[in-house]
Amino acid sequence: LDEVRRDFVANISHELKTPIGAVGLLAEALVSASKEPEQVKRFAKRLRKESERLANITQEIIELSRLQATDALTKADLVDVDQVVALAIDQNRVAAETNRIALVSGGDAGAEVYGDEDLLVTALHNLIANAIQYSPEGSRVGIGVSATDGVVEIAVTDQGVGIAEDEQDRVFERFFRSDPARSRNTGGSGLGLSIVKHVVQNHGGDVRVWSQPGHGSTFTIRLPESSHAAAASLGGIA
Ligand code: ADP
Repeated sequence: LDEVRRDFVANISHELKTPIGAVGLLAEALVSASKEPEQVKRFAKRLRKESERLANITQEIIELSRLQATDALTKADLVDVDQVVALAIDQNRVAAETNRIALVSGGDAGAEVYGDEDLLVTALHNLIANAIQYSPEGSRVGIGVSATDGVVEIAVTDQGVGIAEDEQDRVFERFFRSDPARSRNTGGSGLGLSIVKHVVQNHGGDVRVWSQPGHGSTFTIRLPESSHAAAASLGGIA
């Protein structure tokens, strides 16, 4: 456990080092460019981007440690899956419009699960945000819900870059990125999918990935349907 903790701290430090270094350099650049308004604007914009990145990483680290601190949910309410989908889509609307990506949702209406709505929205939000992040302009991201045999599936499908087969398991690891350089440009932290995995596990479900490099990916969250799962018997619910 100590080793895992040490690794985690080392990874975090590494992740924070780059944006913190950038902030320092940009501050110096601002001082040197103080007489050139256009340059000042450009550096200030980049400074804001780096600070957003730092805020995101910090937020994700807090979320992840909270999720890891306990495998039990403190809340197990009846959650309307349509509502989870609507909220997660809403949170990604601006990013989708900026990247000219169409978000399309559909499938079984009225499915319900037991759990924590905020956490489920966070998980689905992360999947949709990734789908947008790793897709070309003008493509589509689909969010489909189905409820069969007591299992609710929420699938997020994109037409993006895809993930190599040997990396498909690893994407759920903390800090894993299939292409560090590209991910860095997109401002990712490598924690999003590991948060998804923890949330879904805490809800007694799992998350799977199917992907074909160059064609796209589908991430599927599977959760026990409320009518088939007595709250008490749900994995991990206190
Ligand atoms: P990040 O913050 O880097 O997006 P994630 O944990 O969310 O971190 O994802 C880990 C890595 O998995 C990403 O860096 C990316 O390489 C890959 N990945 C995740 N989602 C997708 C997707 N929809 N299409 C292609 N690659 C993806």
